[in-house]
Amino acid sequence: MKKIQMVDLKSQYEKIRDEVNDAIQEVIDQTAFINGPQVKDFAKELAEFNQVKHVIPCANGTDALQIAMMALGFQPGEEVIVPTFTYVATVEVIALLGLKPVFIDVTPDTFELRVDQLESSLTSKTVGIVPVHLYGQCSNMEAILEFASKHGLKVIEDTAQAIGADYTFSDGRVAKAGTMGDVGTTSFFPSKNLGCFGDGGAMFTNDDELAGRLQMIANHGQKKKYYHDSIGVNSRLDTLQAGILRVKLKHLNRYSKSRNEVADKYDKAFSNLPHIQTPVRAKNSTHVFHQYTIQVNNGKRDELKAYLQEKGVPSMVYYPVPLHQQTAYLEFGYKLGDFPIAEELCSKVLSLPIHTEMKGEEQDYIINALKSFFDE
Ligand SMILES: *Cc1c(COP(=O)(O)O)cnc(C)c1O
Repeated sequence: MKKIQMVDLKSQYEKIRDEVNDAIQEVIDQTAFINGPQVKDFAKELAEFNQVKHVIPCANGTDALQIAMMALGFQPGEEVIVPTFTYVATVEVIALLGLKPVFIDVTPDTFELRVDQLESSLTSKTVGIVPVHLYGQCSNMEAILEFASKHGLKVIEDTAQAIGADYTFSDGRVAKAGTMGDVGTTSFFPSKNLGCFGDGGAMFTNDDELAGRLQMIANHGQKKKYYHDSIGVNSRLDTLQAGILRVKLKHLNRYSKSRNEVADKYDKAFSNLPHIQTPVRAKNSTHVFHQYTIQVNNGKRDELKAYLQEKGVPSMVYYPVPLHQQTAYLEFGYKLGDFPIAEELCSKVLSLPIHTEMKGEEQDYIINALKSFFDE
């Protein structure tokens, strides 16, 4: 058995090697490295996949969040509600734009922002909410959208971990993650569910005018070359990456299925372990298992992690410190105890290896290693 990894991008590549190599060679032969035809083609194909009107590619998932907030016209001093239990990018861009992050706790089971805390987080300065579809399933979008529309707020869905997940509204309507709010953002970082061979990102919207603004801001604030209507940024998806993503998009549904098979097998294996809480599936969302994240309830998460490491099983803590307690964000005045669920999760969560190429014997080894920790 080879070395176990959190994600196995090499084996994934081996299976689509010819397709990917051809796509790369095509871009090189055309030498349209910036804004080549593959970028437009990929945007169109992803829009089709997502059933959304516009996909605007950009350089990475962090830029996507920033450009979305710029395009929505958020002004310095205004407030954006954001879960404290997420990757730093979500809040980083809020702070960079001179906005104020208003943190909110998450649910203890599905790790989504607590809708019941929205009301108390609202002030006259609130302009937006950023739900994060953490680990691969959608937040409670119906309630979030209802609250946002009642109070005139914009919704930016951080879909970096949940591309391809389906959300079902109470009227039966089904929508893809990232296509329900004003803007959805995603990342094509190599280890994401749809990953390229470097950095990449995109924004989704059904609003024609907003799509124009997103496109313009991502391209130096210009619609016409060398005529700048607004302050923008330089954020492009490389043609090479677009070529690779076109190939991988065709496999995305299969990838999600493989991840679910791995998750189901873990669920079954761990269902009787007293100190392990396996991932809880959200009621209205499918799960694409960007991460398979257990909660270790006996206070021995770090011991378990070290034990697994010793047995050659990597695992990761996403995330060890909630954002309101990170040094960089202390200036916003939050303190320990403000968001007890997120704070507790940071000491309990552990993400196990999950990827599209997991072999049966590899997973059995991981399962046995984890179980043996509790036997000792
Ligand atoms: C990966 C990620 C991002 C940022 O994506 P980059 O492409 O690395 O900039 C943002 N939000 C979440 C939740 C992520 O997981």
